[in-house]
Parts: sequence; C-alpha cells; structure tokens
Amino acid sequence: MRLPAMSNFVNSTCRCILLIGVLLIAASRSLAQQPGETIHVAVYEGDGVSRTVTEVLKDLQTDDTIEVARISTDQILKDELGSFEVIMFAGGSGSKQANSLGADGREKVRRFVRDGGGYVGICAGAYLASADYDWSLNILDAKVLDRKHWARGFGDVELSVHSTGRDSLALPAERTTVYYHQGPLLAPAGKPELDDYEEWASFATEVTKDGVPGGVMSGKTAIAAGRFGAGRVLAISPHPERTAGLDSVVPAAVHWAAQQADRSDLVIFQQGDLPIVISAPHGGTLRFPGVEARKGEGLKGGGAGFRALRDGGTEELALEVARQLAARMNGKPSFTISRVHRRYIDFNRPANIAVESEKTRVVYDQYHAELDAAVRAVREKHPTGLLIDIHGQGASASTVFRGTKNGLTVSGIKSQGGEQYVTGSKSLLAFLKGRGWKVHPDPFDGKEQSGYTGGYIVQTYGSHQPHGIDAIQLEFGADYRKAAVRVRVAQELADSIAEYFEHLQSLKPKLK
Ligand SMILES: [Zn+2]
Repeated sequence: MRLPAMSNFVNSTCRCILLIGVLLIAASRSLAQQPGETIHVAVYEGDGVSRTVTEVLKDLQTDDTIEVARISTDQILKDELGSFEVIMFAGGSGSKQANSLGADGREKVRRFVRDGGGYVGICAGAYLASADYDWSLNILDAKVLDRKHWARGFGDVELSVHSTGRDSLALPAERTTVYYHQGPLLAPAGKPELDDYEEWASFATEVTKDGVPGGVMSGKTAIAAGRFGAGRVLAISPHPERTAGLDSVVPAAVHWAAQQADRSDLVIFQQGDLPIVISAPHGGTLRFPGVEARKGEGLKGGGAGFRALRDGGTEELALEVARQLAARMNGKPSFTISRVHRRYIDFNRPANIAVESEKTRVVYDQYHAELDAAVRAVREKHPTGLLIDIHGQGASASTVFRGTKNGLTVSGIKSQGGEQYVTGSKSLLAFLKGRGWKVHPDPFDGKEQSGYTGGYIVQTYGSHQPHGIDAIQLEFGADYRKAAVRVRVAQELADSIAEYFEHLQSLKPKLK
C-alpha cells in the first residue's frame, strides 16, 4: 500500500530538546526544521510490520506539517531515504523487520540516522533501534531486559512520564495510561561508542501473563530518546497510537526526531580550562540540510582558494587528541571541530570563499565565534597558550607538515624563547620527530612547504594578531589519519604537546 501525501490539521508545538553528548557543549538554536516547514516521514513497509501500522498513519494524518509515504527495503537500498527527514518503524516483529531489511538495508538506515535523519520506533521499532541483538540497528544505547520473556502479554499499563517526555511528546500527565503489547523493557547498555539515552518515561505498573515472572517491568524504561551521529532516535515501547486520547504523541515524536542538525551537531565545541585550543575544520562528513554543495564559481582553486575535498580522519583525530590531552594535563583543552562536509563550509577560509548561503554562514560564524572565545579566554587567563589546527594533506602520506607562515603565527613563542622553540631542539616538531614522526620542515632547517604554510585559522588567531595566541597548523599525511593508528597518533601528539608546553611555561612572558 502506498499512501499519497497527506495534509490537514494544526501544527503541534515542537520543542527543540538538545541531547548533549559527554564532550559536547551544545548551542541552542536549531537550523533544520523551521516552524511551518513540511516534515517528510517514511514509514517502513515490509515483513514484520503489523496491520496496526494504519493507526500510526492515521495519527500522522492529523498533522498538516507532516507528509507521509511508505518505504520498502528496495527503496531504502536505492537511497530513497535521502528525500525524508524521519523514518518510522511501527509495531510487529523487530527481528522480522530487521530480517526483511537485510544487512545492507540496516546499514542504510544507520547511515541515514548518523547523517542527521530522525528515527522513531514503536514496540518492534524500539527493539530494532536497540543495541541488544545481532540484528538490531545499534543506534540507541539500550539493552532489552528479560529477553527470554519478551512475550509478556498485553493490556493497559501506567507510565511514569518525566518532564522532557511530557514537553516533547505532548503526554498529558506524570502518570499516563497507555496500551502495551510485548514491547521491550529498556535499560542503559553502556556501550562506549553510543551516547547515553535520556529516559522520557518508565513503566509504573506491569502486565502479567502465566509463566512470566512479575516484578521485572516496573521502573524500566518505556520511552528512550537518544542521538546517533547527527540524528535523533526515539524508542517507544508501548503503543500510543493504539491508545484513545494519545493521538498527538506520534506526530510529536516525529517533530522531535526531525529536529536534527542543530549547530551542536554540525560543529562541536568544548570550552576547556587548559591553555590549549584544538581546531579541526575539514574532517566533517555530514550533509548540511537544505543547502546545495558549494560551487566556487568565479573563485580561484587550490592553495588559499576554493577547495571542497575533506581531510579524512581529522575530525576523529582531533577529538582523540582532546581526550588524550585531558588524560595527561590538569584540565581539558578547548576545541572547535567541524562535523559538516567541506562541500558546504570551509572554515579555514575567509567568509567570501567559505560559504555560499545564509544558513551555512550562521554555522561558519558560530565556528569562528567559538574559536575566538576560546583563544581570548586562553589569553586572559594564561601566560602562554597554543592553538593547534589539524588538517590532512595528500602530498606525502608519511609526513606531517607545519604551517606557521614561517614563524609569523608563533611570534609570541619566538620573542619569548627564541628560534629554538619554533624550529630548534625545543620546538613542537622536534618533540614529534623524537617520537619517530617524519616532520617537515625538519626542526633544524628549512622553510615550510609551499601550499602548507598555514591557512586562514592560524593567520587569524596566531600570536602576531593583537588578540591571538601562538598557533600551529599541522597537516597530517594519510599514514597518521587511519583509524587503526588513531589512538597511538593522538597519544604521541598529546605527549609532544604536553612536553612542549612544559618548556613554554618556563619562559617568562614578554608579551601582553
Ligand atoms: Zn585542511
């Protein structure tokens, strides 16, 4: 069955709730779904979806800002999810739905969510979202309790609804009665690669059936909200669509899930307390919702001009370096890391080259506002500070290039400590070389490689500027950016930065 686009009714209020990852300091405005814009929802159609999906479709029809279509595994494999903001999996059998998606279809759904799509799963769809079965999607950090008795019965249960659940899902009260039909009892799975979910409601009562032990269901998570990559995931164990008076819950769930791509998703920040700032402008993979890729018409290419290729692996490397620094030094570094693909924004260029739309300009400005704030905070609170701008280059896989405009962006270090701190035995590159890295220029000689002498970020925030700090661009060859070596590279870089810093801190500040 394929449904045509639907429309009627009133816009339900949609609230933007930010789920904040451990490392992420979130900004607060959402760019993706503006009030009044249509949300396109794909409701999965395939084996394992029960006939009660019609109740889901009926509820979605009550909202004229939501347009619904059914989507099959075939269509998912043909990348047709790309024209939707949210995918929904209704009740039925989670394992059958997983099976009918197949491994490739499941991977497509995971990618859709990771890249900013919303996911709403009801009952079977909540099992599917979990991280508990070899067939589950692993997009929600939830395990399923008492799996053995999953067929625990059906009937009305009471939910204890927390305030975010009430606000986001239009659930009427702290205690809400809802129809339940063998949905999962969820609990945190504690998987390190997934963000913790937020519990929006737990079971306050239970259903019982012969042969199923009581006392398990109460207190367990009934509605869980999480984030996977840039996308939002909502798992609802019971059936609001089969409960009289809860017709607005499913549309509200879709509105919440469609609120992807907050600025906090496209660019991630941390305001730390160490005098170290990490920047990584070119590693992102995410599409920018509702914006075409940059074309660069009329712009020069190459060097300081228009480029759209990303520096693969640098987003992850920068995050790992930040973690490693926090593990070594007494505090946390600040960082500003792009997750959005360079096709849309080039944060290491002036605005006239960096962006081609109003929407992307807002995010570009945010990146630089955060970087500027971090640099200023270091300047105010510390005698010395260091900005490391992390990039990738394709010229030499085994080499790391330094870019400081041949010493200009580290003018502070130079005037305080002399040349040995920039190019000599006490320079950052000397400490990297000491750990077996191939660096250029070799610490003791030479000019920086043409084309890698330091871009817009180190030129804007370097210590030659009135409000800058010492800034070094590092351009990593492919050998340093592979997943297999990431932790080691990050450890060695963090060790080198920490060592360099000990030397820097012994210098008497002559600046300021
Ligand atoms: Zn770059």
